[in-house]
Amino acid sequence: MPALQPARGTQDLLPDTMRRHRHVSETAHKTAALYGFAEIATPIFEFTEVFSRPIGEHTDIVSKEMYTFTDRGGEEVTLRPENTAGVVRAVLSNGLTQSTPLKFFYSGPMFRYERPQKGRFRQFHQIGVELLGVAQPQADIETIACGHRILQALGIGERVVLELNTLGDPESRADYREALVAYFSKRRSELSEDSQRRLERNPLRILDSKDAGDIRVNTEAPAFAAYLNETSQQFFDRVRGGLDRLGIAARLNPRLVRGLDYYTHTVFEFVTTDLGSQGTVLAGGRYDGLVELMGGPQMPGVGWAAGIERLALLLTEPPAAPRPIALVPIGESAEARALTLAEELRGAGLVVDLGYSGNVQRRMRRADRLGARAAVLLGDDELARGGVTLRDFESGAQTELVFADLAAHLKALT
Ligand code: ATP
Ligand code: MG
Repeated sequence: MPALQPARGTQDLLPDTMRRHRHVSETAHKTAALYGFAEIATPIFEFTEVFSRPIGEHTDIVSKEMYTFTDRGGEEVTLRPENTAGVVRAVLSNGLTQSTPLKFFYSGPMFRYERPQKGRFRQFHQIGVELLGVAQPQADIETIACGHRILQALGIGERVVLELNTLGDPESRADYREALVAYFSKRRSELSEDSQRRLERNPLRILDSKDAGDIRVNTEAPAFAAYLNETSQQFFDRVRGGLDRLGIAARLNPRLVRGLDYYTHTVFEFVTTDLGSQGTVLAGGRYDGLVELMGGPQMPGVGWAAGIERLALLLTEPPAAPRPIALVPIGESAEARALTLAEELRGAGLVVDLGYSGNVQRRMRRADRLGARAAVLLGDDELARGGVTLRDFESGAQTELVFADLAAHLKALT
């Protein structure tokens, strides 16, 4: 193993990248708050069954992507591959099921053992929302509207398309499943090995396959529309009507299914063509059976998760690094005064970089490298006068200022 390398599929988020990530998660947090989603954080690892049961043994996630290990106390634990199951577990553990509706926002790392590529990592980061306890389609509409507004706020609204589908209620889904199994069984030999396995366990997932042969077979597969019962059809119509009223354009995609087993009714994805095959940036749906499946009461839910890495890659105008004020002391007494002056200026809310060593030229070069907005020069002459020399890097002007006026003057610059 090469020493001092990050593990495969993980990466260091150096400041430029981290600034993008922070911008994505803060924008999402603020926007989700407008809808009443309150931030929650659940543990990064949980007992394995928190994930294996609800996500489903036959999904890619549980069958081959989970980071599962036995800890020193003999407990089977798993690094969370997604956060919906963790949030529902938290709702149950904390006895919150009586206080619905519950609206949560989260942001944090997730772990899946996948083949790393652009926009696909083993440790990645998601933002997401969960709305629990509301059976009405308004919940689906508002949850999608929240995702839509976040993408707009990030300036990537024009680069994504909302795809929408319904998986119906359990009754419709069972009928559809039967029709799918009949169809795929006839064309079994054309399916990939993975999909032949899915045929018994999770036939809907075949529709989601990225294998070229499967995609060909999928184009002629029966569409869900013909198997939707009236309740499911009405529900879907109301979701579509609501999105229409909000001016959120949606493209129906009858092949859209989610990788996880617990979805019902609405499923949706915001996709882009700008990230190669990793085109899904935000994905979610309704999961009315999940809470019960995890041992709670019957409680509907709807939510989505979005990959921060993919959103960060799409940002066309990433936030700029703040331009500091470079403080350049010259001589020993100036060094001492600079230390307190830097704190005074930071107290006033200014970003200050204090040059620690080197002659004036060297410190000015550092100021330049940092993209400083201005330099504050402090030498014996200045000290004697009770002030500083200010060099404005934008205008090139040099002015003398007394200490008392400095903070206000600098604030006007930045
Ligand atoms: P995919 O089909 O791309 O594997 P998925 O269906 O497994 O996606 P979800 O579980 O729905 O993805 O996760 C929601 C979002 O999280 C995805 O749309 C994507 O933006 C992001 N995401 C999922 N897996 C990864 C990963 N390994 N690396 C980076 N982002 C990811
Ligand atoms: Mg996946």
